[in-house]
Amino acid sequence: MDFQLKTLTVARAAAEKSDVLIVLVGSAPLASKDPLSVQIAAARKAGDLPDKAGKLLSLYRPEDVAAARVVLAAIGDGKPASVRSGVIAAVNAAKAQSPKRVVLAFAQEAEPAAVASAVLAAADASYVYTATKSKAEPRSIRQVTVGVADAAPVGAAFEQARATVEGIEFAKEWGNRPANHATPTMLAEAAKGLGKLPGIKCEVLGPKEVDKLGMGAFAAVAQGSAEPLRFIVLRYQGGPKDQAPVVLVGKGITFDTGGVSLKPAAEMDEMKFDMCGAASVLGTFRALAGIQPEINVIGLIPSCENMNDGRAIKPGDVVTSMSGQTIEILNTDAEGRLILCDALTYAKRFDPAAVIDIATLTGACVVALGGVRSGLFSSDDALAAALEAAGESSQDRCWRLPLDDEYAEGLKTNFADVANVAGRAGGAITAAKFLQRFTA
Ligand code: MN
Ligand code: ZN
Repeated sequence: MDFQLKTLTVARAAAEKSDVLIVLVGSAPLASKDPLSVQIAAARKAGDLPDKAGKLLSLYRPEDVAAARVVLAAIGDGKPASVRSGVIAAVNAAKAQSPKRVVLAFAQEAEPAAVASAVLAAADASYVYTATKSKAEPRSIRQVTVGVADAAPVGAAFEQARATVEGIEFAKEWGNRPANHATPTMLAEAAKGLGKLPGIKCEVLGPKEVDKLGMGAFAAVAQGSAEPLRFIVLRYQGGPKDQAPVVLVGKGITFDTGGVSLKPAAEMDEMKFDMCGAASVLGTFRALAGIQPEINVIGLIPSCENMNDGRAIKPGDVVTSMSGQTIEILNTDAEGRLILCDALTYAKRFDPAAVIDIATLTGACVVALGGVRSGLFSSDDALAAALEAAGESSQDRCWRLPLDDEYAEGLKTNFADVANVAGRAGGAITAAKFLQRFTA
């Protein structure tokens, strides 16, 4: 899917050849007197296009319009979230006709963030998974032309959004692939592919190197699987060499059976998504390659399966992490923190400015927050605020949860320095308290 940005008034957008012209109509009055603008104003006056983001009105071959179809989409206040509602509704409505060329034109002036939001939403609404279908029908839309009154001031935001879409789609692709099409080895190959992009380097460690590093917690989770583990190290250098990097750590459990503490059968297929933290990190590097910001970023992905066999870890086993701390594995399904703790210890060698760990960690987090917001834990208020703000602006919101030391009480055990689970209560928080031990 190819995006381009053009300076287009509503009148010029009407003259653009396309299969669908989507006009994003905000609350502000329409200044122009061209036939389409007049028609939009009339529709609004008649109440046929309510001023509520996501409301639509379809026109069929209106006069003086080159496109076969026109969809008017209300975007209310024109803020990024409203633009997203409007674009998603309009693209979903247009999809039935399998359009190839779409023009997405703002009827009024648009802020850079609104333009970026339109690009991300158009990609999101038209995404289709194809990797493992024999006769896949890819998304019909080939080209989206984003039309704004003046392209120059929104150009940078547009380019950034276009690169971000590539990253997001890369992450979705790997997230959606079934576990037998996204093994740790395959994830590592994908990362190596990213290593060929400008500014990016990739190094992949296998079981021998991981043993040598003393990553006993990570290796323990992997030992029940026939698939060998991989530890992926990605480097993006856009800033000066001596500038402290941001380290991103992504959980890469390519399938989580729960191990001996087996999960229930229902919906276990969804455990292929237990590598979505890793997918986020891979996608971020794909976007970095396109944006080329002047920063340094390290990506760390511990990747393995959590399976059952004669060598699998058992409840009560005690393992030694890379940090030297011993861990009693009371529940083998709390494996994410076991692989992440060693990655967090490894992160120290980069003397990072910040470490951000991204993971599908605990069903308890989903119980607490549902599917709308992600849980956020941080021992640094400024970093937490920055991440919350980033979540708001990208409409991928998070919610900060507490890290009081009292929550760590349940992790105490007689048989090791720490247990890998506490009780059911506050399960997301105790997971964070566990990982916090490896960040000091
Ligand atoms: Mn698990
Ligand atoms: Zn897991």
